[in-house]
Amino acid sequence: MVDMNTLQAIYGGTFDPVHYGHLKPVEILANLIGLQRVIIMPNNVPPHRPQPEATPAQRKYMLALAIADKPLFTLDERELKRDTPSWTSQTLAEWRAEEGPDRPLAFIIGQDSLLNLPSWHRYETILDNSHLLVCRRPGYPLLMKEEQHQRWLDEHLTHNVEDLHTRPAGKIYLAETPWFDISATIIRERLQQGLSCDALLPPAVLDYIHAQGLYQQSADA
Ligand code: ATP
Repeated sequence: MVDMNTLQAIYGGTFDPVHYGHLKPVEILANLIGLQRVIIMPNNVPPHRPQPEATPAQRKYMLALAIADKPLFTLDERELKRDTPSWTSQTLAEWRAEEGPDRPLAFIIGQDSLLNLPSWHRYETILDNSHLLVCRRPGYPLLMKEEQHQRWLDEHLTHNVEDLHTRPAGKIYLAETPWFDISATIIRERLQQGLSCDALLPPAVLDYIHAQGLYQQSADA
């Protein structure tokens, strides 16, 4: 049972397919900061990238398999059901309106997404409605490309976990999660080449991928 005033987080992404690089850092982050609930929100039409290979129903099914034995996670289909772009700023504004002004809310991203954040639709409004919790990811420097974006990051940075639980929004927390060198792109490529992905994603998800014949064709075939 989650208390009404505890910190909750949304974890958005394409999840094409979901893998351990998504799940493990977030489970560790949750332990590190005392986060009790993570709402996984797969998106339908990612504004800044090509369409996923798996259908929305397949991506949802893989996520359901991946979190079946993990009570930390719940699945929210609201972006999947939209046929318009999934703007994180809009989703977080809606969530804030539902939860009221006081509840601490957060959005979880990997380090690569933090670097890209300034290209997201109305990115500055994200911190009006939530905190940002950032998981480490190998291969991405923790330095924004433009000085003004680095200033924005520095201004909102906190090292104090208390801030995340006592303020409703507005802070960026860089979590010391371990590196997991896994991406959905690498998994799709390996599957297409007939290579093993055993250690990269949950076995139930891998079985489903094989049963559906997913990712086994070249994307440009
Ligand atoms: P793709 O390879 O298709 O671009 P991806 O593996 O990066 O996909 P997404 O679904 O695009 O996965 O990512 C969803 C979220 O998970 C993003 O915030 C991303 O930064 C984060 N993420 C993905 N993989 C990792 C990883 N290995 N370590 C930390 N964060 C990750």
